[in-house]
Amino acid sequence: MKEMTVNCPGEACSFELGRLLGGHLEPGDVVALWGELGAGKTLITRGIARGLGVPREIPVTSPTFTFINEYDGRLHLYHLDLYRLTHPDDLETLPWREALFGSSVAVIEWPERLGDYLPAERWDLRLTVTGDESRAITIIARGANRRTRFDELAREIQQRESMPGP
Ligand code: ADP
Ligand code: MG
Repeated sequence: MKEMTVNCPGEACSFELGRLLGGHLEPGDVVALWGELGAGKTLITRGIARGLGVPREIPVTSPTFTFINEYDGRLHLYHLDLYRLTHPDDLETLPWREALFGSSVAVIEWPERLGDYLPAERWDLRLTVTGDESRAITIIARGANRRTRFDELAREIQQRESMPGP
C-alpha cells in the first residue's frame, strides 16, 4: 500500500487531481471515493472522466437514483453512486460484475455500501472537508500493479505548481 495526501485549497485542485489520476488508469481499475456528502466525490469523478478522455461536452452527473452511469473515453467508464443502495443484494439488478471485474474502469461513490463486494486491489481516495472550499485528499494505491503507477502519479502531482504538496 502506498499513499499521499494533497491539501486542495479549492475545487480546481480537486478536479485536477481527478484528471491526473484518470490519465493513469488502466483496464480493470476500481477507484473508491470515500467522504461525506459535499466532500467532492462527484467533482473528482468529473476530473477522472476528463482524464480518461470523456469529451467535455458530455456532462458527468451523479447517478443517485439509477446507481450507474456509463461513459466512453480512452476506456469505458462506469460511475456508481450507491448512496441510496440499502442492501448489497440490491446490486443484483445492476451490471456490477461488468463494472468491477471487466476491462473497464469503475469509479464508486459510497463504496462502503458494497461491503465484501469491494475489490481489495483498488485505488482509494479519502476526501476530508477542511474548510468551505478546502479538502484534504488522500490517494491510496492497493495492489502491486497500482503501486508502480502510484509513483508516476505522485511525481506528476508534485510537479504541479497549482497543487500544494503534502
Ligand atoms: P459529493 O459527490 O461528495 O457529495 P460533490 O462533488 O457533488 O460532492 O459536491 C462538492 C461541492 O463542494 C461542490 O458544490 C463543489 O463546488 C464544492 N467544493 C468546494 N471546494 C471544493 C473542493 N476543494 N473540492 C471539491 N469540491 C469542492
Ligand atoms: Mg456525489
